[in-house]
Amino acid sequence: MANQPANARISNTYEAACLMCGGEVRTIISDLIDNRLGTPGSWRIDRCTICGFEQTGPVPSQSKLTALYEKHYNFGGQTDTLYTRLRERFLLSSIYRLWTRIDGDVGFHSRPGHGRLLDVGCNEGRSLRIFARNGFDQLEGLEVNENAAAVARRAGFAVYTCLIEDFSPANLYDVAILSNVLEHSLDPRKMLMDVRRVLKPGGQVWISLPNNQSWLRHAFGRSWINWHAPFHVSHFSAGTLSKLLDETGFNQTQVQQISPALWVAQSMIAHLFAKQGTKTWQLRNPFLTLLFMALARFVVFPKLWLENRRGRGDCLLAVATRT
Ligand SMILES: [Zn+2]
Repeated sequence: MANQPANARISNTYEAACLMCGGEVRTIISDLIDNRLGTPGSWRIDRCTICGFEQTGPVPSQSKLTALYEKHYNFGGQTDTLYTRLRERFLLSSIYRLWTRIDGDVGFHSRPGHGRLLDVGCNEGRSLRIFARNGFDQLEGLEVNENAAAVARRAGFAVYTCLIEDFSPANLYDVAILSNVLEHSLDPRKMLMDVRRVLKPGGQVWISLPNNQSWLRHAFGRSWINWHAPFHVSHFSAGTLSKLLDETGFNQTQVQQISPALWVAQSMIAHLFAKQGTKTWQLRNPFLTLLFMALARFVVFPKLWLENRRGRGDCLLAVATRT
């Protein structure tokens, strides 16, 4: 597995600027492919020489990125496959609640709350249905994909088809969820400032995203599923995320590390099957996915537990309060 240490090569300095501080960046990993969706091309990971922030390069323009999402993202938006049907059934079951206690709650699906909730990037409203059981009484979402938004509206939720930067709600929110969203943004600082703008004073943002200090990054090298080039633009550590939350007007109240078995399974599958320019359909094979999830959760679990405690879990969960 560990054939390519992730930060083995330090090469050229590029003209590109750090998304966080504008500093000069250096390439630490090159020749990354899209090992999920087969987007043609190759990318690199750049690290800022000033603040240490890591980002995927070359950083695309917003219009280029939007075009890539439309053409390649989410396995063509497929919804009615065995994989998606099993996932849907599992997520709404009580077994899933138990599972989040063992495996970690990457989507904040077991976290209670109350008042008004905004799910940023709510997709078809699957999570909104789960949040509705946890004490929230007004649940709304933002989703730029009109088809997905329509599905969520049919389930009874108010969903706005715009980006958070263009969103001015009539009433502010108690909680905003950024579940695997912030790392996709070309301007995470602006995104957090916009989230702050739509929160009540004392409101909270709940963030989950990959941890670039994960031991799995080093174990899998270029195959690490969370490089997710070119769609993951930013790669946060607990430190860079905390700093950004501070700078954008949040008090960070809680950070936790978890290593979801699904993510470990996906790194394993990508490592075994991914080929440049080809969708890795094995990531949508429910039997393969379950097999590797079981391996991660029931065989590799002491390692996962230990690395979470050492700050090298695969996923960061942060809850921060608006100052
Ligand atoms: Zn920087």
